[in-house]
Amino acid sequence: SILTEAPESKKARVTYEEVGGLESEIRAMREIVELPLRHPELFSRLGVESHSGILLYGPPGCGKTLIAKVLASESEANMYSINGPEIMNKYYGETEARLRDIFKEAKDNSPSIIFIDEIDAIAPKREEAYGDVEKRVVAQLLALMDGLTDRGNVIVLGATNRPDSVDPALRRPGRFDREAEISVPNADGRLEILQIHTRGMPLSDGIDLRELASELHGYTGADIKSLCREAAMKAIRRYLPKIDLETDRIPAEVLETMEVKLVDFYD
Ligand code: ATP
Repeated sequence: SILTEAPESKKARVTYEEVGGLESEIRAMREIVELPLRHPELFSRLGVESHSGILLYGPPGCGKTLIAKVLASESEANMYSINGPEIMNKYYGETEARLRDIFKEAKDNSPSIIFIDEIDAIAPKREEAYGDVEKRVVAQLLALMDGLTDRGNVIVLGATNRPDSVDPALRRPGRFDREAEISVPNADGRLEILQIHTRGMPLSDGIDLRELASELHGYTGADIKSLCREAAMKAIRRYLPKIDLETDRIPAEVLETMEVKLVDFYD
């Protein structure tokens, strides 16, 4: 196998519950990704082809990768990840062969999702940014996508922060012909994301997540996740003086009193 790791969906089960906000995006993605992966017979019965490529776009840290993982997991599909800049640089000269291998592996182990992060690095728009190598790589990617004729078995999700800089040739019918914007969450979305990332935390009394969410204007999912982790680290630092680090186990009494303030991040 060319893959050194197990396909990601085999590693961890992630559910739609892990995604805050983005309800309508998820609803749309379930229809165009989960449905054909799980029930390709629906599409063949009606004589239509499902979408083989979907472009997710939006600022970093808002859940493009997360959604791909969740879709793979919930569709019980294998997920193969390609990082645009990495495959262009690290495998320089072997990029096309590597793409072919991944597509083949995904097909052999279908249903599969191929996730291409930062796809603009593989297929930039400006013709002048293209050398011969880049041209060949884009042509290879397009040929591989055109070859995904088995309905529903393999779906390619491309992600980019800059949809305008993706080669328009990629956005034609039969290729990435659906797009979904994954944008910065609003206050309701931020609340859901806060709830997700504090689910296992003993929060101190009086923390109003809704109020906090309303104050976090402009925070992405990734920002909120790191805010929660930082608050937990602050809680740990607050308790450190009470903890004898030489002891094998931290006493239950100490663990029980620990709480995360969350407002700590204002310090
Ligand atoms: P990039 O463009 O940097 O790849 P991305 O949009 O793919 O960004 P993710 O990698 O999915 O962002 O987000 C990073 C982490 O932030 C996720 O693993 C998740 O824990 C958290 N996160 C982001 N968005 C959300 C969300 N909508 N709900 C819950 N958690 C989120």
